[in-house]
Amino acid sequence: MTDDITMRLDRATAEDLYGTLYEVGEHIAGGAPITPPTPEEVERLGNLLQELGHRLGRTCSPLCDHIV
Ligand SMILES: [Zn+2]
Repeated sequence: MTDDITMRLDRATAEDLYGTLYEVGEHIAGGAPITPPTPEEVERLGNLLQELGHRLGRTCSPLCDHIV
């Protein structure tokens, strides 16, 4: 039995994830500024974070509308 997690990302979400991780890395490494996300990026990254949290078995927010 594997403990791996598999997620499928649309291209826009994958681009957002790449950009965010890259900027955070540059910020940590050298203090580079982090670009504020657009509302669309916030929406996509929020959905990604929620889905990842579900797959990791994290406790959801009381506002979460997922079905157990
Ligand atoms: Zn949930």
